Amino acid sequence: MNNKKIKSINRAGSSHWVGDGFPVRNFFPSSGVDKDINPFLMLDYAGPAQFKPSARPKGVGEHPHRGFETVTIAYQGSVEHKDSAGNQGIIHPGDVQWMTAGSGVVHEEMHEREFSKNGGEFEMIQLWVNLPAVHKMTSPRYQTLLSRDIACVKLDQQGSIARVIAGTLQDATGPANTFTPVSLIDLKLTGDSNVILPVTRGFSSALLFMEGEVEIDGATIADEPRLVLMDTAGDTIEIKSSRQSRLLFMAGEPINEPVASYGPFVMNTKAEIFQAISDFQSGKMGRVHTP
Ligand code: MN
Repeated sequence: MNNKKIKSINRAGSSHWVGDGFPVRNFFPSSGVDKDINPFLMLDYAGPAQFKPSARPKGVGEHPHRGFETVTIAYQGSVEHKDSAGNQGIIHPGDVQWMTAGSGVVHEEMHEREFSKNGGEFEMIQLWVNLPAVHKMTSPRYQTLLSRDIACVKLDQQGSIARVIAGTLQDATGPANTFTPVSLIDLKLTGDSNVILPVTRGFSSALLFMEGEVEIDGATIADEPRLVLMDTAGDTIEIKSSRQSRLLFMAGEPINEPVASYGPFVMNTKAEIFQAISDFQSGKMGRVHTP
């Protein structure tokens, strides 16, 4: 066991609205964290924000993706997804949607109807996971990972828990099917925990600190959300909490291939980006609603 050092503690690099439904803070790449978090491409933290009741669901209308996966974790509020591959689903607090854009989907991401009507507190994370070249043009896939199917690990006697969405922790394995080795684990710590997370040697790893107060590698992180990027050396992360805290742990095997990205498309070369734009514009990625 060799505890990792912190490489950097990062605040959000930008804040903006995605459509009219997602007031997000972007923790990478706008923070400057980029290659060191490979195979992850982007992390938006939406809310926590209060939404007033609305007759028309807010959100983000039809837009394309190609070449990677979008992972949406619902903490508060509910989101409805529809895409051009014919997939559709609703995720409620605790649920996760793992969408493989692959060769291309057009989708919309809206607040769920009931949530829109009643309004309320809204909090989500969207994480983009890259695909290796060999799988970039795979058929689109959609996995709804319901809260009850997400493995829950008791971390101590005080009530700290880990929800394993992808990868393994102790004897629990997350329900997500991934193309490359990825761990995604939601942590809820009590005010007095000491947790040790194993990380495969050579993998990138980071924690999104959302709430509470923790100590990692001698640094105190409290109150405000931060992305804590860990060094590659070492094979464990030790987290001590002094208040009830919430964090999202991510780790993955770097995909050592060129990255060419343009908005919603992430490929290996510029030519593939031009092809993606052309395929979207000519309707090859389909539509959510038939005009
Ligand atoms: Mn999208």
